[in-house]
Parts: sequence; C-alpha cells; structure tokens
Amino acid sequence: MSRDGHPAIGASVARPGELAERLRARVLDERRSLVALCHEMVAIPSPNPPGDTTAFSAYVTKQLKAAGLATTVHARDPRKPNIVSIVGRPDGPRIVLCGHMDTFPRPDAWAPEDAYRARVEDGRIYGTGVGDMRAGLAIMLTLAKVLARADIAALGSVVLVFTSDEESGGALGAELVLQESDAVRGADACLIGDQSGVAEVGAAEKGFCWLRVRTTAEQGHAAYRAGSGAIVALAEVARALADLVDLQRAPPELGAIRESDIARRVTVNVGRVSGGRAPNLVASSAAAELDVRFPVGMTVDEVLAAVRSRLATADVQASLEVIRTSEPAVTAAEEPVVAACVEHVRRVTGSEAQPVVRVGASDGRLFRHYGIPTAVCGPTPHNFAGVDEFVEVRELLEVAQVHAGVVGDLLEGSGVQRVRAR
Ligand SMILES: [Zn+2]
Repeated sequence: MSRDGHPAIGASVARPGELAERLRARVLDERRSLVALCHEMVAIPSPNPPGDTTAFSAYVTKQLKAAGLATTVHARDPRKPNIVSIVGRPDGPRIVLCGHMDTFPRPDAWAPEDAYRARVEDGRIYGTGVGDMRAGLAIMLTLAKVLARADIAALGSVVLVFTSDEESGGALGAELVLQESDAVRGADACLIGDQSGVAEVGAAEKGFCWLRVRTTAEQGHAAYRAGSGAIVALAEVARALADLVDLQRAPPELGAIRESDIARRVTVNVGRVSGGRAPNLVASSAAAELDVRFPVGMTVDEVLAAVRSRLATADVQASLEVIRTSEPAVTAAEEPVVAACVEHVRRVTGSEAQPVVRVGASDGRLFRHYGIPTAVCGPTPHNFAGVDEFVEVRELLEVAQVHAGVVGDLLEGSGVQRVRAR
C-alpha cells in the first residue's frame, strides 16, 4: 500500500504491459480533476511576449506540493522560472515529461473575460492557450498525482519539467534546465504533450535560423534622389533571400517518419522591419528580422552560407546578424518513446498514429539535441492561437491515457523491449 491507501501499483508488476494498463485506468479515474485543472490554468494568463510565468508557476508548484512532490527552480530571469520535480528514484529508467507554461498572447478580438475564462461546453474546453499547452500541462499534473501515489520507486523515475520561454525559443527555458539539471540531462526519453493531435506523434522538427539584416546608405533629401536608400536596399535583400525556398538538400534519413509538403521545404518570412526617419529623407539605415525554416537533411551552416552568398550578390551595403539557430532534430520512429506513443494511440483510439516531422518548433528539439529520444503528442488545438481556441474533452482523455501508457511501458523495462522487438 502507498501512503494514501491506494494499492501500490509499481511494485508488483506481474506481466508486460500491466503497469501501462493500471496507469491508464488511474488517469481515467481522474478525468474530472483533469478537466478542472485545464479550467483553472486557463484563468492564469502567461502570454509570451512578455512571457512572465511567475503566477502560473506558483500554481504549478502548489499542485505538485499538494501531491507530495518537491520542486527545484531553474531561472536566469526571475520572471521566467522553470520547475523540475522528480517522482521515483534516480536510477532505473528515467522519463522526462515536459510542458511549457507560456502561451501565445490572447488575440485582440477575444475579450480577456472570455479568453481567460475556460468555458466547458458541448464536450469542448475553450480558452487562450488551452491547446498550446494548458491541456498537456493538466495531463502532466494528473500523471504526477497518479505516479506519486503509485510507488514507482522500484521501477525508475519520472522527471516533470515545466518550462518558460518556449514560445520565444527556449534559451531561458528547456535549454537552461538541460544545462543545469543532471537529472534531466540523463533522461532516457522525453514525452511532451504539446499540440499535435492524437493522430500524429512528433518525432522530428525542422531547423531554423532567425536573422537580422541591416542595410545602410548615404542620407540625402528625397527631392533630389529617387529609388535609393537603405529601405529600398532592404527590399532588394528581402527579394534576394526569398529564393532560399529553392535550396536543395541531401536526402534525409527519416524511415517511417512522414514529412508533409511544407516540412520538406525551406520557408522564409520577413517578420519585422524598421528604418528611416522621415518621408522626405533618403533612409540611411534599415533592418529586417527574418525567420528561415529548413527541412531535415539541411544544416544551419548550409543555410547561412546561402544567405551570405545572396547578400554578397545583391549589390547593396548589408550586414548579417545571426539571432538564433537550431539544427533539425530527429528521433527515429523505432525509438521506444515514439513506438510506445503509436502503440498506445492504437489501443486507446483504435486508429493508427503517424510519426511526423513537426513544422513548428517545440522544446522537443532541445532534448533531442542532448541525445534524448523525444516524442511530442498532445491534443489538437482547434482555432489555434485564435478566437475560441478549444480542445475536445474526448481527445484530452485519450492523450492522457496515451501518456500514462507510454510512461508505464518505459518504466517497465519489459515494455521497452517489447516495443523494440516489434
Ligand atoms: Zn506549444
């Protein structure tokens, strides 16, 4: 027996797959509290920008403490804390469950009193960030409660990682935690309930480069010079960089991981521009910030070389600053964490999930960069980042059971081998 009178479910696993079944059943028993957690979390805004998660992380800490779990905080910016909590013992299989506490900002057209009041209606939970990723966090907290009661110490450990700064790249979030925490760095697998839809398991992500290009020109009076200046030069640069979409790559080794059309391609977005002083002055400086995403099989170096060669041939005075880069990252479809996701989606929903290359970035890439096999599987965010964002309660419960099953299989070493042998 564990301390609250529930039978200890970790200590006496008799046959392969038994732990997964038990955890799935326990999580389903918590369905009301799972929905209630989503509801409460939507009401604690943490939009990024600015990405202040102090109030939200206090809520998470309170929940973990109530489950009897200790927490450690990793923070370089006090407004962006990251919380780590360990269930079980440090040796044996170690599985990270990770989720980010920041969200996209509420859309202007959605009044705060509606966007931050989770409405549960017709089997849907509405609220800003509910799909990305309050629902995934509610699953983590529910599993934490179940695991804390389950006495899994005989089997291994689950490390819960609640991050900040995900929407802005993760340098102060998952990356910081990976740098500072041995427990997290040493994990055997990582599962993230970020938005995906239960039919897809994120097993890989594209790479990206965030760049700043500055152009300069001689200042002059508009009445005496036409068609010149730093802003015109910047427009030329933007046109020259747009053809990065034609870059070719080496054939990627993706095995059973599916790549959508957009995942195969380079995309270029000029997301922010600035420059100039007045309509009647020829601009002496201008700058643009770009987001270049590129597929698996291509590298940051290749992309930067292509950017530089286009800047060199554009015949303008331009300088390049690299803001942030990330290589593409792949976890093989055969890795236990991915295979177990696919298997448990099949058991819970009866349909086939597909390992895919995610088009958007997640904290998952940072774990993969540290060599930790990582899968991303969460509910579908309907009206994603827009007005009336919602998740379906049905899918929330499905994902919760999938996560419980994956954790069960990975903790129970036999489950891992079983999946590997398939
Ligand atoms: Zn997300």
